[in-house]
Amino acid sequence: MQLIDIGVNLTHPSLAAHAEALLERAQAAGVCQLVLTGTSVAESEASLAMCRQFDSEGSRLFSTAGVHPHDASSWNSASRAALKALLGEAQVRAVGECGLDFDRDFSPRPLQEKALEEQLALAAELRMPVFLHERSASQRLLEILQDFRAHLPAAVVHCFTGERQALYAYLDLDLHIGITGWVCDERRGTHLHPLLKDIPGKRLMLETDSPFLLPRSLRPKPKNGRNEPAFLPEILHEVARHRSQTPEQLATQTTACARAFFGLPVISVTNAQES
Ligand SMILES: [Zn+2]
Repeated sequence: MQLIDIGVNLTHPSLAAHAEALLERAQAAGVCQLVLTGTSVAESEASLAMCRQFDSEGSRLFSTAGVHPHDASSWNSASRAALKALLGEAQVRAVGECGLDFDRDFSPRPLQEKALEEQLALAAELRMPVFLHERSASQRLLEILQDFRAHLPAAVVHCFTGERQALYAYLDLDLHIGITGWVCDERRGTHLHPLLKDIPGKRLMLETDSPFLLPRSLRPKPKNGRNEPAFLPEILHEVARHRSQTPEQLATQTTACARAFFGLPVISVTNAQES
């Protein structure tokens, strides 16, 4: 089985320190390709550096380049040019993480919207896909996306945790949906279960968002409480169950979807355990 984790915050200090061992465990678990999430100009540069450090062939590790809504206050006149330079590098495959977070509001909303619009314009100019973050802001995100959608090749709402209405609106805009271990959370993720089968196979991708969102159903639980790409099969199994698919079917579908979305190469896997 081959899986692709489309959301890994590998530059996060809790993961970066153990990156080599973590990547080996991912490989052994069948997670053969990873897309590292860039959340600021500096983190996007660091993500690309990690791709180069741990995958000199450029076939297994890829990254995004963008400014997260939490970091939108850092957006300045130099940000666009810095991201544009990164997006010209072979292993950088999408604009983002960008979007709106009206839940935590770590940056003022007008600044979040400005940073998002500038990044969508950049994606349109470069004809690159977009990795979107949205929390408690689906209405506003949809309004902004209306203006850009026709000019974007593709966009994924990563870590979708919303309600049916938001999901359908995103699918109507022909967006992709990223699903995390949120669906393994019996306290706040069960509303997603009946929605999972409504996501077309060609629009669904899986991600850990590690080190965040450790799947609560995972046994045994890691003592450090940290999520990592090797736990992606836990999410695969939970999503497959609610879609009445086998994990193998869903893995084939989501891997093909991620490869098409990010333009990733098909690779042969030699050391992954078959399960
Ligand atoms: Zn996010």
